[in-house]
Amino acid sequence: MRRLIRPAYAARDMLDLCAHSIRDEDLTVRLELIGDQIEEAEAAYIQHGENETLFSITQSVGIGDVTSDEMKRVYKGTFAKSKSTRHIYDAIKKLPPNDICPMCGQRTVGTLDHYLAQSLHPTLVVTPANLVPSCGDCNKAKLDAQPGVANEQTLHPYFDNVDDDLWLYASVEERSPVAMLYFPDPPSGWSETMQTRLRLHFRTFGLGALYASHSAVELTNIRYGLQRIAERGTVDDIRADLLRRAESSAAAHINSWQTAMYTALGASDWFCSGGYN
Ligand SMILES: [Zn+2]
Repeated sequence: MRRLIRPAYAARDMLDLCAHSIRDEDLTVRLELIGDQIEEAEAAYIQHGENETLFSITQSVGIGDVTSDEMKRVYKGTFAKSKSTRHIYDAIKKLPPNDICPMCGQRTVGTLDHYLAQSLHPTLVVTPANLVPSCGDCNKAKLDAQPGVANEQTLHPYFDNVDDDLWLYASVEERSPVAMLYFPDPPSGWSETMQTRLRLHFRTFGLGALYASHSAVELTNIRYGLQRIAERGTVDDIRADLLRRAESSAAAHINSWQTAMYTALGASDWFCSGGYN
């Protein structure tokens, strides 16, 4: 998971822009009446996000005289499409550097995901803090179910920061063709809740399988280069090459699959002395 700066747009402004973009005058009037509730829900959401207690936000079936289904229509038909808000929708989608999905750190962003499901939280449907850029697969992997306790919350890129400590590791499967096995191992200094949430996040988004498949391709790509080094060099030259790649990957992202892979390969006597063949 990669941290993102929370979008600076206010939920009430999003609501107002949507209210004035739709053609249904009756709905416009009803939307104008729920501004205070949307604003209060946003403030509470941000507070809960910072306290790791988003799971405790109560579900509802509507806000004022606006139903949950109407809010969903406002999001899909207006917020994501109308001239007055589409650029905001796009700006939130563009938050991640290089368009990389913050949930998996691998695939490209294709959509915005409601961290708390829109069907359960009509007050948060157009709340930018609840809209997280996501790839299509991560969006699907996260069920609409409400987390019941703190431990059941996947990581939130606007509130949780796991970028600064090393937690992603890989081990070398000593077989032919060689393969990598990925696992999260958060620092013991983290709270129990954060450790559990990171593991849940890793499992929910299938990151182990995703990273293993990308590293399998990379292992094929580097084989020839390593064989060339071996022709004129030693096992230590191979190791040095792998560790240089690990260092370079870590300088970009310490918890990327590349960092974990090259670190594990450089540490593996088996791999350095011919396991790459
Ligand atoms: Zn993703």
